[in-house]
Amino acid sequence: MAYQVPHFINGKIFLTQNSRQQEIFNPATGAVIGSVNFAEENDVDQAVAAAREAFPSWSATPPLRRARILFKFKELLEAHIEEIAQIITREHGKILEDSKGSVLRAIELVEYYCGIPNLLKGEYSENISTDMDSYTIRQALGVCVGVSPFNFPVMVPVWLMIPAIACGNTFILKPSEKDPSAPIKLMELLTQAGLPDGVVNLIQGDKSAVQQLITHPDVVTVSCVGSTPVAKSIYLTAINAGKRAHTFGGAKNHAVVMPDADVNAAKAIAGAAYGAAGERCMAISAVIAVTDKVADELIARLRQEIATISVGPGIDPQSQMGPLISREHYQKVKDYVDLGVQEGAHLLVDGRNLVAPGHEQGFFMGPSLFDQVTSKMRIYQEEIFGPVLVILRVPDLNSALQLINQHEYGNGVAIFTRDGALARNFAAKVQVGMVGINVPIPVPAAYHSFGGWKHSWFGDIHMHSESLNFYTKAKSVTVRWPEETSALGYYHMLAHGHEELKSNE
Ligand code: NAD
Repeated sequence: MAYQVPHFINGKIFLTQNSRQQEIFNPATGAVIGSVNFAEENDVDQAVAAAREAFPSWSATPPLRRARILFKFKELLEAHIEEIAQIITREHGKILEDSKGSVLRAIELVEYYCGIPNLLKGEYSENISTDMDSYTIRQALGVCVGVSPFNFPVMVPVWLMIPAIACGNTFILKPSEKDPSAPIKLMELLTQAGLPDGVVNLIQGDKSAVQQLITHPDVVTVSCVGSTPVAKSIYLTAINAGKRAHTFGGAKNHAVVMPDADVNAAKAIAGAAYGAAGERCMAISAVIAVTDKVADELIARLRQEIATISVGPGIDPQSQMGPLISREHYQKVKDYVDLGVQEGAHLLVDGRNLVAPGHEQGFFMGPSLFDQVTSKMRIYQEEIFGPVLVILRVPDLNSALQLINQHEYGNGVAIFTRDGALARNFAAKVQVGMVGINVPIPVPAAYHSFGGWKHSWFGDIHMHSESLNFYTKAKSVTVRWPEETSALGYYHMLAHGHEELKSNE
């Protein structure tokens, strides 16, 4: 039975009747399994109104009580992890293990923000001048908006909305229209955890809902995670409308392999390149082999690794790689492989003709591997977001660094080496926001900053621990309490009498 995915506004789910719709596919079978009703202007206005009305009491709720709701939410995520993973896999296609892993990364972020009373405790300076103290507090901003991508339908929404509400803001999520069911499940669990109505709301839709949300006069912040053109356009529109904004874009993550790298680097790189069919913003999509000898050995090992990857439906426990999200995306990735051949790169492993038995209509593509790729080729310059890995050959580390630092994107990078001093030097010089040393996918823990550089990020503040600063504004209070004998005390005594002053001591 095809289902319809609703909105969630002011604690209630509802469907917009007769609005525009988009079909939802099971990427493993290619079949339509549901549809999502897009919000109309009135729905967006209602969501913003609900969030605005919920703000005064939620922002005044003691952080400890907000934390208790987050603790409960964390427990509910843990209790429902299997169910949530099934929902993600059904609409996204990735294997169940990956879906579960992404929920665990969401849980880690919730755990960190359960510490919100401690995180918000502020700063205090005694005696900034004689008998004068100063303290700084961080206060919530108001109605915040988050726009999320298809590839992490639970993890990214949680990363955006939980810090916002922990800090006392209210929130409107606009998830991807391609896999919108898991975000609705989050709303159900937040309600069960005791979150008051209106604190989080969810609007289904596409760019027209986004446009209305990010320019709405009652919205104060805008966050987005998506492709670079969308992230840039949302950022510019939001800041021009006077909002605080940070948006996170696409990527082309490099792995540098040095001659002294551990032999297991190939296994790690294959997992990081082909896991989740390459549809991860932190996937490795370009390897820079330092020397031809390294390239040749790595290729031999990568071929062995690729041969063991079993591609099939995400719900099958035997599968190690699922399908791509849509037929259009499958075609786009296939076109890039065609392009690489035209550009003169050597296609060593061709994933274009893979068929998953029994799932001929699914959007499956096998792993592809290119060698002899150059920095002039579009398959190196552009984000493909599929199971396609390209190999570039350079003579030394400086040439590798130059390539990485000149690249448009700067999300993640990894280096494989046993040389600590070399790795330290690399980490210091590389123009990328998240660096792995013998770690292929260096997604930082929740208590560190998450975010790329260059065209992988627009704004001033990253996510994770830094979200606290994004979702609050600082207020500094300078305090002087004059003693009874001071001039102010004297005037007060004249006005109110000596006895009242005494009784306040
Ligand atoms: P996308 O840019 O197509 O869509 C992202 C969101 O923006 C969706 O909710 C979509 O409805 C909305 N949107 C699409 N077009 C819009 C427009 N013109 N105006 C306003 N809103 C619009 O991205 P996607 O295909 O869903 O996700 C994949 C992309 O996200 C990849 O490029 C990937 O690298 C990136 N990503 C980045 C990170 C990161 O941390 N930097 C994390 C995950 C994904």
